[in-house]
Amino acid sequence: MLKVHDGKTVKRVDIAIAGGGPAGASAAISLSQKGYSVAVMEKSRFENIRYGETLAPKIRHLLMDLGIWKRFLDDNHLKSNGIQSAWGREELFENDFLLNPYGNGWNLDRVRFDAMLLDEAQKKGALVFRGAAWEECSQSGAGEWNIAIQCDGAQHRFQSRFLIDATGRSSSIAKSMGARRIHCDQLIGVAAFFPTPGGTTSHTGYTLIESEENGWWYSAELPQSETVAVFMTDGDLYAGSKKRSPGFWRERLASSVFTKNRFELPKMTANPRAVAANTSIIHPVAGADWLAVGDAALSLDPLSSQGIYKSMESGINAAKSVDGKFRGTGGALRGYSDSIAAAFKSYLNVRRSHYKKVNRWPESAFWRRRS
Ligand SMILES: Cc1cc2nc3c(=O)[nH]c(=O)nc-3n(C[C@H](O)[C@H](O)[C@H](O)COP(=O)(O)OP(=O)(O)OC[C@H]3O[C@@H](n4cnc5c(N)ncnc54)[C@H](O)[C@@H]3O)c2cc1C
Repeated sequence: MLKVHDGKTVKRVDIAIAGGGPAGASAAISLSQKGYSVAVMEKSRFENIRYGETLAPKIRHLLMDLGIWKRFLDDNHLKSNGIQSAWGREELFENDFLLNPYGNGWNLDRVRFDAMLLDEAQKKGALVFRGAAWEECSQSGAGEWNIAIQCDGAQHRFQSRFLIDATGRSSSIAKSMGARRIHCDQLIGVAAFFPTPGGTTSHTGYTLIESEENGWWYSAELPQSETVAVFMTDGDLYAGSKKRSPGFWRERLASSVFTKNRFELPKMTANPRAVAANTSIIHPVAGADWLAVGDAALSLDPLSSQGIYKSMESGINAAKSVDGKFRGTGGALRGYSDSIAAAFKSYLNVRRSHYKKVNRWPESAFWRRRS
């Protein structure tokens, strides 16, 4: 629906979504399936590397719910046999997906995966703006959101009844409404990419996790013959120019037992890059006419390998709650907030029990903080 404001066309939609990653795209697909008009404003054009590539087999049921399982299979992501870990002990332990009722897991070409989800949202009817910059976001007395973005050299104006923050860890929309981000630790991931060596090894098809004195490693083969290796540690332990240098990353790699055998170090395609990977939650998760989904609501330690799954699930649950609100179901948004709080509590327990298994380095600040 269109109307004119200050000589500009204003599009009216039911729901505006900031951010078109897995959470925002899943919410958009789900809301479109329910018959709502949706606009998604995504900052990027999926031009840069994205981190987080391992999907557990159960992702299948979410992709089927969203009606995109077949489309996902067409993209030829790499099948994953399971996870090998040297965590509490120095020996390798294998968690095989062989007997998993959903079959194998997946190692993603993450950019292709995220771009596919947003394409599918568009195909299902969502208005999608890639390369969008937010210029204005305010609420009228009647509760309508007035939004202006710049995209492809033009300004676009919207009015919406509801706003979803799917901007990832930045949670920039929720924060602009006064919500506060609570950080539980300082975990970062320092990631580098390598060509996958030819030939089959005992690690082929497995994600590898390995603990070490100052943190832990994960490495995974990706589609297009690439391998990613990420050193997980605390930001303050990594800080300081000497340690921040690629030399520090290489030194930690050299002291690993298994990870260093998965690729040839001299073939690293670019210097290691650090990204935030800490556990954090936004408070509150929802207001009267807005809510946060995915990492914008709750970001998990990559050790869980659940970030993408949980983000997509929260996008789908958010769509149900917004539908409930529009239909007049009392407490629909409170139910959503409660479900995020409950998920956070149970995740913290699991996280604590995983980290407690490592007691090989009693003097290490990284492990002491988590014991
Ligand atoms: C090192 C590392 C390893 C990880 N490994 C795994 C893994 O193996 N498996 C797993 O499941 N998860 C993993 N994760 C977590 C996973 O990547 C996240 O949980 C997931 O990306 C969250 O999805 P999202 O849509 O909520 O947020 P994001 O993926 O961050 O998407 C947010 C989107 O919003 C856009 N955006 C941001 N700000 C704005 C704005 N102001 N306006 C418009 N658009 C905006 C961004 O461009 C982006 O497209 C890992 C994370 C890290 C850091």
